[in-house]
Amino acid sequence: MVIVPVSGRLDSIRIVAMTPRIIIVTLVLLCLPGGCAKEDALDSILSRGELLVVSRNSPTTYYLDKSGPTGFEYALAGLLAEDLGVQLNMQPVFSLTGIFEKLQREEADFAAAGLTLTRQRESTYPHSVAYYQLKPQVVYVAGMFRPHSVADLAGMTILVLTGSSHAESLRALQQSGFSDLQWQEIPEVDSMELLERVNEGYADLAIIDSNEFTVQQSLYPRLKVAFDLATEQDMVWYLPPTTDNIRLLGRIDNFIRAMVEDGSLGRLREEYFGHTYGVSRINSHTFIRNMKKSLPPYRALIRQVAKEYQLDWHLLAAIAYQESHWHPQAASPTGVRGMMMLTLPTAEEMGVDNRLDAGQSLRGGARYLKNIKRRLPHDIYEPDRTWLALAAYNIGMGHLEDARVITDRQGGDPHLWRDVMQRLPLLQKSKYFQSVRYGYARGLEAATYVQNIRHYYSILQWQDIPDNKVQPPLRTEDYLPAALHNLDLLAL
Ligand code: GLU
Repeated sequence: MVIVPVSGRLDSIRIVAMTPRIIIVTLVLLCLPGGCAKEDALDSILSRGELLVVSRNSPTTYYLDKSGPTGFEYALAGLLAEDLGVQLNMQPVFSLTGIFEKLQREEADFAAAGLTLTRQRESTYPHSVAYYQLKPQVVYVAGMFRPHSVADLAGMTILVLTGSSHAESLRALQQSGFSDLQWQEIPEVDSMELLERVNEGYADLAIIDSNEFTVQQSLYPRLKVAFDLATEQDMVWYLPPTTDNIRLLGRIDNFIRAMVEDGSLGRLREEYFGHTYGVSRINSHTFIRNMKKSLPPYRALIRQVAKEYQLDWHLLAAIAYQESHWHPQAASPTGVRGMMMLTLPTAEEMGVDNRLDAGQSLRGGARYLKNIKRRLPHDIYEPDRTWLALAAYNIGMGHLEDARVITDRQGGDPHLWRDVMQRLPLLQKSKYFQSVRYGYARGLEAATYVQNIRHYYSILQWQDIPDNKVQPPLRTEDYLPAALHNLDLLAL
């Protein structure tokens, strides 16, 4: 009795009785000169109930936030998994070359990692239709020499990621006559690393994708685009070159085309790339206006809930403003809802069954904040305890802990908001986030989130003191700490 694949597909194995001769003939038939018959990739995904996707831990692809894994590639691959009725298992790797090695070893069904369609890759790896277009951009430090074309690049130090589409473009340019071109390849997975080095003066230029630059630019206000290295390029998913994946590819292409046609792909792009991480621009005048107009109907309720949870109502009101501008019906495309913009899992955990009910939402948010405060180490004292809890409310406990670890490593005090706040944006830099447990996080947003709340909180307190109706000073420097000034937050 032996187990052999029937009809050449390993997933449809049947147990049959065979003589040794039949076994040999069967194996010969399965392994014709073109290679052994391969398992169909789509069938294999369906039978294992899991889509195995390789990606990279970066802000434009895949990372963890307070509601768990997120990122454009994660969301898109998740929708495909849903369409196929299977679970998504996304695995990060730490270099672009590592991604293609995984495909070579058939360790993933495909790669979804912000990968550009290139001639070289195309000759080896099957790929999907395009789901996004972007431009490769040459980035320089404002005030230094600005190249305007490829001819100007001679003699300049240029950084690209090892194994990237940009390295391939530079090689092609070098061979086509620009023999003076010189560049350095950095074996990282995130183009942030390149920006970091250019910013610190280790190189003149970096070449990165336009979507990645847009997302990261706020961390490096001195960096600007010198010129586009090429016109728009396609971003695609790549599949292993050796598996039988024609049916899988057909399914992926139909899925992407359908999303393009019904506009959902455009919406997903907008959700992940259309904003610079929701860092809200503080508009104090809008705040004052809203405070007079939108707050009054909820003031009594906010006071009541704050009392129940022993919180300062000004603080709860400030959080609710930061979250939803006091709109109980607020909703974001990422699925958070209501006055306190709770995620579904948080709402469930907090016993909220209707997130659009202002009272339930406020209670859920207050309870969640209290929970976080309780879970923080005992030796963190007020007011830092509240600010750190708010950061965790925004970004998740794991990432806050990571920022505290970095703070400690750098000689700062992880019990002080002032010190931790300055390290939170480092969670967006690969040098740091790769050295901590939970990886990339939108740390700048979390720092700004807390600072915004503190700002609203102080205005609310101020306004609540009778005879004190004059506006407090509202210049950025008054509420944003020095470390965040040079991040040019108001330009976001
Ligand atoms: N899109 C690039 C590639 O496919 C990776 C990102 C970058 O280097 O900016 O290699």
